[in-house]
Amino acid sequence: MFRFSLTRKPKTSREPYSLETLGKASRLRGATVTEGICPYCAVGCGQLIYSKGGELIDIEGDPESPISGGHLCPKGANAFQLSVNSHRVRNVLYRAPYSDHWETRSLEWAQEQIAQRVKATRDADFTTRDEQGRLLNSVRSIGSLGGATIDNEENYLIKKLLGGGLGVVSIENQARI
Ligand code: SF4
Repeated sequence: MFRFSLTRKPKTSREPYSLETLGKASRLRGATVTEGICPYCAVGCGQLIYSKGGELIDIEGDPESPISGGHLCPKGANAFQLSVNSHRVRNVLYRAPYSDHWETRSLEWAQEQIAQRVKATRDADFTTRDEQGRLLNSVRSIGSLGGATIDNEENYLIKKLLGGGLGVVSIENQARI
């Protein structure tokens, strides 16, 4: 059996690749591996989450998962890039009505704006009963459209708050099973 130690490099290689190649190691070597479940949909594929020094370095499919056997769909396979990505937008961007440019605002400002506008719209449109007296308790002038990277827990909270709490009827998500 071929053996190779990183501390004692062989002087010659009897294998069909170079000593330099033999000296290389997987970037995952020595990483802490944490078992996880892909958060995006109800299939629940298994993921292995690799970290070094507290830093996330990779997420891959878990071959031991009885659900997915190591496979991930394109969304689950890109979970690492969603988290670690220099292009990720980390500020609230706001474009005022009739404006042609985006402005950076604080998260607190955005949350306050959303709360005020949702309340004003709901107060103006909340319908308790229809024309025949049947109970509705609905708001049809507010809608929610979720994106593919909203996870299961976030979708649950959106449905609970908007549907059960506020009476919003139009709640959709791009990815749901
Ligand atoms: S989003 Fe893809 S990888 Fe994640 S649980 Fe669903 S099918 Fe599996």
